[in-house]
Amino acid sequence: MLLRVDFNVPLDKSYQITDDTRMRAAVPTLNYILNNGGAAILMSHLGRPEDKLLPDGSINVEKFTLRHLVPHLSELLGRPVQFCPEFVGDEAAKMAAALQPGEVLLLENTRFLKGESKGDEALARQLAEMGDAYVNDAFGSAHRAHASTTTVAQFFGPEAKGFGFLMNDELENANRVLNNPERPLTAIVGGAKVSDKIQLLDRMLDFVDNLLIGGGMAYTFIKAQGGQVGKSLVEEDKLELALRLVEKAKAKGVLLLLPEDSLFADQFDNGAAIQTASSAEAPEGWMGLDIGPKARTAFSEVIAQSKTLLWNGPMGVFEMPNFAEGTKLIAESLAKATANGAFSLVGGGDSVAAVNQMGLDDQVSYVSTGGGAMLELLEGKVLPGVKAIQE
Ligand code: AMP
Repeated sequence: MLLRVDFNVPLDKSYQITDDTRMRAAVPTLNYILNNGGAAILMSHLGRPEDKLLPDGSINVEKFTLRHLVPHLSELLGRPVQFCPEFVGDEAAKMAAALQPGEVLLLENTRFLKGESKGDEALARQLAEMGDAYVNDAFGSAHRAHASTTTVAQFFGPEAKGFGFLMNDELENANRVLNNPERPLTAIVGGAKVSDKIQLLDRMLDFVDNLLIGGGMAYTFIKAQGGQVGKSLVEEDKLELALRLVEKAKAKGVLLLLPEDSLFADQFDNGAAIQTASSAEAPEGWMGLDIGPKARTAFSEVIAQSKTLLWNGPMGVFEMPNFAEGTKLIAESLAKATANGAFSLVGGGDSVAAVNQMGLDDQVSYVSTGGGAMLELLEGKVLPGVKAIQE
């Protein structure tokens, strides 16, 4: 059985795994295969080796090899893990063919071969020849039409390919928000830039009841409406777009809330002097780095009244403790609403880091493992890795 997983975990300088969430997320599918008489041939990428070539133009194998993950994977599964130092080729084919039920083979980093990110058909065929069935459990890579995430699936009939448990969970949870959600439905969107989330915001306005916007992106909206935002993050070329989104919200009857007040800092530093002021009346030369107390109250009231919640992006520069309170309060409000019966989905990189950091990950309904993939799904796109299994 060929299994595409997302083992793209962060490593420290001595190649120790600093966060194994993604590896743990694949364990249920792996154990299911292994405990039911299957053997697993694992494929994953790790980092972007193609962007960090050695001076002679070759791959930095030492830095990006999946060999670093073998001991920990073996520990998680409670069984030995074989490693093949190539992704496809004679040795990989030989090792795959010799695999016995209950055995695990981890292939080398998929991105060591250029054909992977090009979705190369010849490479995908070589992969397909190693297994009798294909399972995709790599949600975090499902938005990429790569050889091991998408093209390979075309070599298997509908009865010989499917989603793993993680992929299934991710899709089901996203569907709870996208299809027939219990209302009111509230989306909370934050993070640095409007430009990264234009499509998300635009699409959210088609089906949410409330849209709460915080983080750096809020200041583009506030400035667009005539506010003085000082040195806060503003995308001048997105001011018109922000106004259009405000108009769309009005036309659709969506409550669009921006932070009424903010914590303004005199510099981008945790030790900066702080003033709380109306978001539209920034002290000259100061920058908004977190939502203020009035905004926190307003946002948490809307959250408390919601039945379905979607959160993507922090409310401020939460990496700095002095500007983490707004984000923390959103995480706590989500946890509270969930305890009262709401469904809450945290989808997207930094808000996931925030709930994990606050130890609230098991108090929300679902925390997605896939930043970009979840964002694209919520934007209404069909993910190539998902489509390839369904067709
Ligand atoms: P994103 O990846 O778009 O979700 O953005 C996350 C990043 O946005 C985090 O690193 C935050 O520090 C940053 N961020 C959030 N609020 C602000 C703000 N008010 N000013 C500058 N950066 C912010």
